[in-house]
Parts: sequence; structure tokens; C-alpha cells
Amino acid sequence: MPPDHLSVSQINCWLQCGLKYYFRYVEKREPERQFAALAFGKAIHSALASFHESLKDGKPMPVEGLQRLFRADWAAETTEPLTYANSDTPESLLETGQALLAEYAQVCRFEVAEAEHQFEVPLCDPDTGEVLCDKPLVGIYDLVTPEGIVEFKTAKSVPDTGQLARHLQLSAYAYAFSFKERRMPALTLVHLLKLKKPRVEMTAVVRESKHLRFFTRCAQTVARGIDANIFASNPGWGCANCEYAGVCEEY
Ligand code: SF4
Repeated sequence: MPPDHLSVSQINCWLQCGLKYYFRYVEKREPERQFAALAFGKAIHSALASFHESLKDGKPMPVEGLQRLFRADWAAETTEPLTYANSDTPESLLETGQALLAEYAQVCRFEVAEAEHQFEVPLCDPDTGEVLCDKPLVGIYDLVTPEGIVEFKTAKSVPDTGQLARHLQLSAYAYAFSFKERRMPALTLVHLLKLKKPRVEMTAVVRESKHLRFFTRCAQTVARGIDANIFASNPGWGCANCEYAGVCEEY
């Protein structure tokens, strides 16, 4: 059975490859391999959540404490064998993560209202209020400020303007926030860039009614596809990083 809720990860997975969605969310199959990039993102997010909690409590965590947390999380992530991209190694990612967190701690000026904040909202037409799907949309905001939402990504590059304009997660989160708060959030995307010289880049992203409309229609279409058991395979660039490539070949 597919999950009884929708999330942006599910929606993106189904859009990328229906068969991958089926393996992950319907069969709930164990992945054949774990990717270092994902494990790294998890360890960074975990350290950031603690850092933001400390800001919220008015007792900012020192950089050394933040790096220590990351080292512990990364050590836990690397107890299992991981698939590394290009020249990445456990040691190089450890160094990169510590450098990125040190830089972020220096440039962070956010006023923290909530860290790792869960939300659940119905999927409705943003103009008419008509319910579009019987499953709620759920997710977790990385950081909530009095003005809006901040999302964090670990990546090698920043998306271009066109990709940001269609960034489904940002539209989904803007929809969820505006559904609850009755106002559009200010959105900031923070990229922790895994480059030779690690760098933190912050981008303000604007969302308007048209983006919410686009997202809700897209999510409704995906939900209909899932309900109708449509799980089409989509072989392409994503197969190289698919955790089900083995079973897919035999399918
Ligand atoms: S290997 Fe490619 S086609 Fe097969 S499930 Fe994964 S993404 Fe889909």
C-alpha cells in the first residue's frame, strides 16, 4: 500500500521514475546501496537542527560544538558502506562538512522561531479552497523565522534561475505555510556547497499565487497516478544514482 499522505520527496520520486516510487514506497524495499551524498546531507542537517535550537534558546552553540556534533553524526553514517561520488572519501567529506558548518555559523543571521518543524496540511486549490486530494501534504521545514522559511541543501552547485522558478519543494512549502498562516512566506535557500573551497550561498526565492497553483495541480496529478497504480519506469540519467538499479534490471 502506498503511504496515506503525500510529501515532496514522494512527489519528486514518482515524477522521476514511477517504478522507483513503487520499490521505495509501495513495496518498501530495502535499498541495495546507500549514497554518501545523502548520508552527508543527513549529518549536516542533524548538526544544523541542533545549532538552530541553540539559537532559539538564546545560547548559540560554539563552532567547535557544532563541528563535534557533525563528526559524531558522520561517524555514525559511515559505519555502513556508502557509495561515494567521484573523488569524495569519508575523510574529504568530514573536512568539507566541518568547513561548511564553520562558515555557516559565521554568516547565519536568522532569527529562529522553529527548527525542524513538522507540518501537515490538506491539499486544496489555493484559489477556491476545493479539496484536491484525500491525502494530506506533510513535510518538515528546516528552519522557520518570523518572516518565513529557510531550506538547506548540500550540493556541488546552485540551481539556475529557471530551476529555482520551478523548484517544487519551495512551492510546496510556500503553499503549506500560506495555508496555515494566511500569508506568503519569505523563502531563503541556503546551499552548503561541497567544492574544493567549501562555500555557503544564500538565495532569496519569491513565490506567488501562480507557483502555488502549479504545485497543487502537480501534486493532485501525482496523487491520482499513485491511486491508479501507475508506476511507469523512466530509465535515464537518474538510474546511475538509483538504489534499486539491480532489482529494476530483473523486473
Ligand atoms: S534503475 Fe532507473 S528505471 Fe529502474 S527504478 Fe531506478 S530510476 Fe527507475
